[in-house]
Amino acid sequence: MVEEHLIEHLQEHGIKPTSVRILVWKECSKSHKAFTLQDMEERMPQMDRSSIFRALRLFTEHHMLHEIDDGTGFQKYCVCRCEGEQHLNHIHFSCRECGRTYCLEEYAIPIVSLPDGYKMEEAEYIVKGVCPSCKG
Ligand SMILES: [Zn+2]
Ligand SMILES: [Zn+2]
Ligand SMILES: [Zn+2]
Repeated sequence: MVEEHLIEHLQEHGIKPTSVRILVWKECSKSHKAFTLQDMEERMPQMDRSSIFRALRLFTEHHMLHEIDDGTGFQKYCVCRCEGEQHLNHIHFSCRECGRTYCLEEYAIPIVSLPDGYKMEEAEYIVKGVCPSCKG
């Protein structure tokens, strides 16, 4: 059952599965592109903005979503598909033609070595260019 899978995922991340959270997570998990709060509002017109926003914040705090700043000025989110201990996101491709930000889930952010005393907690990696559907 799809719903059960969603509920389990919430519980595994220490989140109480309320009906709002299940619905929002269902929409999030379908997405293989980065999305904004507004994208989610459009997909769930029956839901109020602040409930969606709170759910997105919660998912981010519990490492189910990553926040991405792709330079468009809109806060974007994408589903965490990290594997293993290190919570290092995949890289993103931002298309300057259509403004979409794609999750390149098979491509992990390269690990950089840092000077002594610097401890990495997260990293963001955005590649900019033209996506296949805009290439013409
Ligand atoms: Zn992650
Ligand atoms: Zn494009
Ligand atoms: Zn992503």
